Amino acid sequence: SFGPNIFVESQWLPFKAAIDSHLNKKWSATPIINGQAINEYEVDGVTHQLDAQPVLAPWNHDVSAGEVKYANAELARQAIDVAVAGQSMWQNVAVTKRAAILRKIAELFEENYAELMALCQVEAGKTMQDSIDEIKEAVDFCRFYADEAERLDDVVHEFTDLSGKPSRQVYKPRGTFVCISPWNFPLAIYTGQIVAALAAGNTVVAKPAEQTSLIAHFAAQLMYQAGVPAEALQLVTGAGDVGGALTAADNIAGVIFTGSTQTAQRINQSLNDHAQASGELPVFIAETGGQNAMIVDSTALPEQVVRDAVLSAFGSAGQRCSACRILCVQDEMADDLIELLQGNMAELSVGNPLYAATDVGPVIDADAKNGLEAHIARMDAEPTATILAQTPMSSSSVVSQENSTFVLPTAIEVSSIDVIGGEHFGPILHVLRYQARDLNKLIDAINNTGFGLTMGIHSRIEKTVEHIERRAFVGNTYINRNQIGAVVNVQPFGGCGLSGTGPKAGGPHYVARLMQLSSESNGS
Ligand code: GLU
Repeated sequence: SFGPNIFVESQWLPFKAAIDSHLNKKWSATPIINGQAINEYEVDGVTHQLDAQPVLAPWNHDVSAGEVKYANAELARQAIDVAVAGQSMWQNVAVTKRAAILRKIAELFEENYAELMALCQVEAGKTMQDSIDEIKEAVDFCRFYADEAERLDDVVHEFTDLSGKPSRQVYKPRGTFVCISPWNFPLAIYTGQIVAALAAGNTVVAKPAEQTSLIAHFAAQLMYQAGVPAEALQLVTGAGDVGGALTAADNIAGVIFTGSTQTAQRINQSLNDHAQASGELPVFIAETGGQNAMIVDSTALPEQVVRDAVLSAFGSAGQRCSACRILCVQDEMADDLIELLQGNMAELSVGNPLYAATDVGPVIDADAKNGLEAHIARMDAEPTATILAQTPMSSSSVVSQENSTFVLPTAIEVSSIDVIGGEHFGPILHVLRYQARDLNKLIDAINNTGFGLTMGIHSRIEKTVEHIERRAFVGNTYINRNQIGAVVNVQPFGGCGLSGTGPKAGGPHYVARLMQLSSESNGS
């Protein structure tokens, strides 16, 4: 298992009862434009209803969480126009007031933890622990970016020209931002993007992942309740060409995106095309995939390595872009380590995320499951790869594997990184042996994947740790610990290369990037 279970029954029961009371609710989500829930749209004077799509719990398709109405490209354009028109109002709201609204959002998230946890569980299939972490991170983002907006407001760079006249530089809002967020952190990243842009004095059009529209809609309502004006935040639930319509708008100041590398590349292209039309390149912040390795030398503590690797690979069912995908073990200790890994994986509890004891829940949907299982089958047939371990569904879990989207946690020994063939976003850990003399080749091979998000290093030799750190091309390095769960304002998070571009989330440059530095000289 991932470690001691924090859910001591006697203390936990009141909270569980509160969450359970929301589990059978039927939630609904619609686009929200200018404060109005949108259920229909008009074409040439004719009114059409938006179709309602059912939302089924990933761990049991007989459980319906509610339904969502998706916007279309025309509604997406309307949402942009409302946000652009609202910009001058929002940027003139005092920064202290904007920060107070963000802090109020944090409070409302804490007060509504039971609804938010229930939504994390039924819509995204998150475990109890992951749902708690999700809410905590969202709250941290609100409070940290509120502090950041106030800090930046006080930053004034003062200069003097040759004749002694003053000149200064101040931070100003930029304009409307499109925030496109992923289903794997349906509250934390969704909220982090929105509140960072709002804190900076920018209006927002938010497009959450279609898989997790219900929690996005509920959280948006809490944001309005906290005081975010209707013009400042538009919600565009949707799939298909809706995101494309948003990023093709020629009056946006930027896009904040978390998701796949391919989508980021498409957005970048769209922004470039748009720049040719309007002259200014919008700001683009992207947090994308990873092919993250943990390098373990023969001085590492095997029990600790296995505990950290198992949590990093299988926590959140491997659906974190920071997750450990390749455990690279120095040959001398590989056999012992693999044995420990097999033992630990046998202890994982895979099943219904509503159970406090569950370590690994389902993956998000059938497409994800099919892709991951196809990879496992391909590795099984590959002569240079060996399946080392696969954890079965927990016997106490009453869910059926057919009527759900579970992928069994799987460890696969591979002979090279190339054999893996890119990122597989789920509970699959590859194990690669290396010889001490080939350490540099290993680091170079990891760099050559083109990704650069997280890296774990397990070694008790400081020089080795420093050497790996210097040579590796990654955004976040974790030494002698797990490599997931970056904490806001503790481990600013973000990658390089194919893993993303722009300032790190939860760090001191993020809100600043959403503002422009303006220089003012006074000749009088
Ligand atoms: N910030 C998360 C972590 O450190 C990962 C974010 C993601 O998966 O997009 O684990």
